[in-house]
Amino acid sequence: MRGVVEFSLSDEQQQLRRTVREFAEGEIAPHVMEWDEAPHFPSEIMPKMAEMGFLGVIFPEKYGGAGMGYVEYTIIIEELSRVDGSVGIIVAAHNSLCTNHIYKFGSEEQKQKYVVPLAQGKKIGCWSLTEPEAGSDAGGTRTVAAKKGGGWLINGSKTFTTNGYYADVCVAMAVTDAIKKSHGISAFIIEKGTAGFRPGKKENKLGLRASDTSEVVFVDCRVPAGSLLGAEGEGFVNSLQILDGGRISIAALGLGMAQGAYECALRYAKQRKQFGRPIADFQAIQFKLADMATQIEAARLLTYQAAWMADRALASGDGKLRFTRESSMAKLYAGEVAVRVANEAVQIHGGYGFIKDYPAEKYYRDVKLCTIGEGTSEIQRLVIARQLLGRS
Ligand SMILES: Cc1cc2nc3c(=O)[nH]c(=O)nc-3n(C[C@H](O)[C@H](O)[C@H](O)COP(=O)(O)OP(=O)(O)OC[C@H]3O[C@@H](n4cnc5c(N)ncnc54)[C@H](O)[C@@H]3O)c2cc1C
Repeated sequence: MRGVVEFSLSDEQQQLRRTVREFAEGEIAPHVMEWDEAPHFPSEIMPKMAEMGFLGVIFPEKYGGAGMGYVEYTIIIEELSRVDGSVGIIVAAHNSLCTNHIYKFGSEEQKQKYVVPLAQGKKIGCWSLTEPEAGSDAGGTRTVAAKKGGGWLINGSKTFTTNGYYADVCVAMAVTDAIKKSHGISAFIIEKGTAGFRPGKKENKLGLRASDTSEVVFVDCRVPAGSLLGAEGEGFVNSLQILDGGRISIAALGLGMAQGAYECALRYAKQRKQFGRPIADFQAIQFKLADMATQIEAARLLTYQAAWMADRALASGDGKLRFTRESSMAKLYAGEVAVRVANEAVQIHGGYGFIKDYPAEKYYRDVKLCTIGEGTSEIQRLVIARQLLGRS
């Protein structure tokens, strides 16, 4: 049998791309700069996104989801981020971090209680691993959960939690047995309104400003025994699996923003005249556009390959098939391409790339998250190298 490599999207997937693009251009694009400047968390579009299935993309219909796969999820994040990365990251953290952690490792009761309303978009989710002193080295978590009166008492704080201020459901990692180190960190589900649990400082950010990035604080926060998510001590290890999917989100986020930045640069290059000709006539500008388009295409191939692998892993159902290497490579490459492409988009705009009347400056600010969030580029290289050397 020949020719088993398939690069085209199905008719349904192409239709999905058109639908998301139409939504993003119609309902997000007109507000992008207003939301960015305020900054304003776009609560008003959440019900519409819920209705369209964007808040439960990768979950089966029996759990309130849209029953789609990672390829469709990647299409959705890419298309939303092409218009506004802030909306892309809100949807990504909700789906692939919070809801997915409960879906993958939760009990049936937890899935019914939390995944269903999250996937239906009736509730918003966040996922808290990072702490002020534990970023790349997330195994150095200091937030603690102690057994108390049949439940748990959580104390500590988490930083940089996407959707942290607005979330109804938070999945957070806390140390339950310090001696066991990375096998002594457990995951907990905490509901908004639980005494001793509150969002803390809302960060004032360089980019992705319409998305919320907040501290999450626990002070003598009592949660019932049923809040433990997955096996005791396995929260950190399970988080690494969740990050395999999460990195596809960031790759798709970077890909979408790179595509948006490239398109605005292409448009501008055709319109802007200097020396009596459109700047697109100059070979220096043409080479930039050629490099941008080529790098975006390479990033797209890596990202969709990782999504395809994730779908195969989902279909196999036993959790044994991993796609750590592919998702890290996609995240590393697409994140760095997004930064390079947005930089060139500003350059092609000249002085107008530096001012807010044109979209290039916003892409330039927003894309930087892609080399930092869900593992910096340096950490991705460590993850990839470990895979190559068989040390994972
Ligand atoms: C907008 C935004 C949204 C986020 N959303 C979430 C979220 O929803 N949930 C969540 O849990 N976290 C979230 N994060 C946190 C993010 O994942 C961390 O910022 C990231 O993992 C890096 O951790 P750090 O900021 O502590 O940097 P550090 O770990 O302090 O790193 C600083 C620098 O040192 C380098 N470095 C560190 N260790 C090594 C090493 N071993 N080898 C080489 N270089 C190294 C890093 O690459 C980096 O360049 C978010 C962050 C941002 C900015």
